[in-house]
Amino acid sequence: MNCDVCKVREAEVFQPHTGRRLCKECFINDVRERVRQEAERQGLFKARKVLLAVSGGKDSYVLADALAEVLKGVKLIAYNITEGISGYNREEHVAKLEGFLRGRGIELLKGSFKSQVGYTLDEMVQASKVKGLNVSACTFCGGFRRKLINEVAREVGADFVATGHNLDDEVQTYVINFLRGDTSRLIREGEEPLRLSDYFVQRVKPLRRVYEWETTMYAYFKGYEFQEVECPYISQRPTLRAKVRELLYSLESKAPGALLRLLEEFDRLAGERKREMLKALPRHQLPRCRICGEPTSYGREICKNCELLLASGLTPKYASLVSR
Ligand SMILES: [Zn+2]
Ligand SMILES: [Zn+2]
Repeated sequence: MNCDVCKVREAEVFQPHTGRRLCKECFINDVRERVRQEAERQGLFKARKVLLAVSGGKDSYVLADALAEVLKGVKLIAYNITEGISGYNREEHVAKLEGFLRGRGIELLKGSFKSQVGYTLDEMVQASKVKGLNVSACTFCGGFRRKLINEVAREVGADFVATGHNLDDEVQTYVINFLRGDTSRLIREGEEPLRLSDYFVQRVKPLRRVYEWETTMYAYFKGYEFQEVECPYISQRPTLRAKVRELLYSLESKAPGALLRLLEEFDRLAGERKREMLKALPRHQLPRCRICGEPTSYGREICKNCELLLASGLTPKYASLVSR
């Protein structure tokens, strides 16, 4: 059977949400076109420099490939963090990622929790256990990852940070926030997350309209050798996300396109909520942490990251990646 778009090449993939059968080339072009539209919507064409936060997983390969194609005149730099999880972080994965990025004209900055915070993730988790704290590895990891990505983006002078979150990730996050009744978090989601501090570099998610199965297919068609090993701390991950993921899968299989429609609707709601919250927010910017200088919540003097380290009996030994 021939491709529904070019009518010439043989179709290799069925796209349920459009009902089309596509060949490899037309499928790749279709994904890139959605990335281009999203880049336009989020203002990426006005950027001079964009920092790509890359984990080495399939989505980061797709993100780098599609953006290099779409944002021809924009300088792209990538940043990868080695968390310091024994048996999980492998130098060969970073080397492969670096080689791939170099081929796309993108320099890779290689950072780590050890060199930038002073401790590996394993060391942080261990220290918190000794102190009897009930903090999951994902809490340390997520918090420090956000902090370091933001710092490096500022240091290299990036106008935006692009992450590889796909459509499935985005809708899951929305549903989880709604289920928890935590609509205040909506201001961090959506098309233009609210910036409460000039020290936050604007985050964008160019793959947010691309299904997870599509990034998998893209990576497969391109033959990327991405990191497939599962993080050993996965058992500590919130189980709610896994349940929501299952629920959304079955919804999507019964009503193809459901995730795209949900995203549109959630974005609209988040936009309304954001406008409401803006009116109620203090006029001044977020305060900055006394220890590390990163923005922290209103009313706090020390950020959550620094607080966690101190509570674990560890002294922060922050070091810059760029001006080393
Ligand atoms: Zn085709
Ligand atoms: Zn801090």
